[in-house]
Amino acid sequence: MTTDDARQPGSPLTTLLETSPHLPCGTPRHSLSGSAETSALHAGWRFDNSYARLPDAFHSRVNPTPVAEPRLVLLNRPLAESLGLDPAALTGPEAAAWFTGNKIPHGAEPIAQAYAGHQYGNLTRLGDGRAILLGEHCTPGGRHFDIQLKGSGPTIYSRRGDGRAALGPMLREYLISEAMHALNIPTTRSLAVAGTGEPVFREEPLPGAVLTRIAASHLRVGTFEYFAARGDIGNLRLLADYTLRRHCPERVESENPALGLLEEVIERQAALLAQWMRVGFVHGVMNTDNMALSGETIDYGPCAFIDAYDPAAVFSSIDHHGRYAFGRQPGIASWNLARFAETLLPILHAEPATAIAQANEALETFSGRFQHHWLAALRAKLGLLTVESEDASLAADLLRWMHEAGADYTSTFRNLRPHGAPGTEASADPGFATWQQRWAARLARQPQPWTEVQRIMITHNPAVIPRNHQVETALVAATIAEDLGPFERLLAALARPYEAADQPDGLLNPPPKGTPVCRTFCGT
Ligand code: AMP
Ligand code: MG
Repeated sequence: MTTDDARQPGSPLTTLLETSPHLPCGTPRHSLSGSAETSALHAGWRFDNSYARLPDAFHSRVNPTPVAEPRLVLLNRPLAESLGLDPAALTGPEAAAWFTGNKIPHGAEPIAQAYAGHQYGNLTRLGDGRAILLGEHCTPGGRHFDIQLKGSGPTIYSRRGDGRAALGPMLREYLISEAMHALNIPTTRSLAVAGTGEPVFREEPLPGAVLTRIAASHLRVGTFEYFAARGDIGNLRLLADYTLRRHCPERVESENPALGLLEEVIERQAALLAQWMRVGFVHGVMNTDNMALSGETIDYGPCAFIDAYDPAAVFSSIDHHGRYAFGRQPGIASWNLARFAETLLPILHAEPATAIAQANEALETFSGRFQHHWLAALRAKLGLLTVESEDASLAADLLRWMHEAGADYTSTFRNLRPHGAPGTEASADPGFATWQQRWAARLARQPQPWTEVQRIMITHNPAVIPRNHQVETALVAATIAEDLGPFERLLAALARPYEAADQPDGLLNPPPKGTPVCRTFCGT
């Protein structure tokens, strides 16, 4: 990593600053003038602290623990701009202090949030053990986003953990969350990674870092489980009202707001899971504390993307029974939603039997909703612009062939060409060739020309995804060789995942045969 001050006029990084949206920063040499307050205002921070204003049971007030040597490693300039923050004011020592928690931006009221969660099926009391919410930043457009520091020191919820995070996993979350965003999938975002100058001790000492995470909120299924487990109906009702106000204000005044909330969360998860399946994303740790009620993908720990299509694909080193395998994810989402519905029973209806009936009726819609979104995604992946009853089986047969052939999920979809298309040779694989003819006949039954079919296909079948072997190579270079180059090139490619032109060949292709399947680890 470079040690030049990016803001120094004429420094070699000046051009990088202008061309690279993700600014790598070295140890800054310039200090900003003015008080913390004026510089915070100058950067554009505008905090509301609505979660901190909720009763004490919701959180614990805690400041980040200062670190030895705050140093900005990455700044997401486009994201900063879209939040109404001034990227130029986010590159100096003051910003490095904000992004490690050494200084609190003006107006923030740091807290750790209380929550519980079913982890691998068992209910546990958790809470932010290594994350601190600074508050909600209000954008000039009036939207509110949580600003959270991850790895910023212990809280009362840390149990035996150190409250810290290592650089590798924080860069990994930055990379994959930004890739998901570019793939048009709802997700938390990453604004910055800052080094702490302190080691964290895992199996070995690793460089410590803090990630600044941006989220529509950090409300989770586990937040409701926390109050339900305590039998705290008053706060449960307050939480439901708060969640609705943040995520579906139009439902606040509805006849049964708790039921509206349940339906909304079910719908958002059904849509989200279909999008994960569309790009081959395996979350890896779908515990209920990692399911956001906003419908955003959250908590990038041992996640990964499949190469060869395999519903049983598991990457997490601790998921021994494949609970969170690729193909099981919609079923797990449904299980998590049932846990969510259970927490709502006391506020759904005064009559328990009626509450259970309402919850079940809502839960039963998940499968149909997911199938609807998944079939729509498959139609787009296959360029089907009209609706035929056999579309689901056409798609299922391709997936079955891919599984049997061990075909790469991403490149198979991306490279699909109908039988007989100009420049397309007949496939040597009879199974695939038969399917390809069926698909060509299906395309011929719709009026849209091939150019239109292609347009929808290339916007739903990415050319570039964060393949495990590429991610690992980039992270090794960044953390061990202290060379951010490969990471930045991968990040740049993943910012335009649907464009194949000018992308490095290695990123468009599946891993070479014999590349070991990567194991992924929780970011602890
Ligand atoms: P996760 O698996 O990242 O969703 O985390 C599950 C729980 O463990 C959450 O309550 C985290 O805050 C907590 N946790 C994870 N890592 C640490 C750590 N290093 N120190 C303290 N708490 C942690
Ligand atoms: Mg978590």
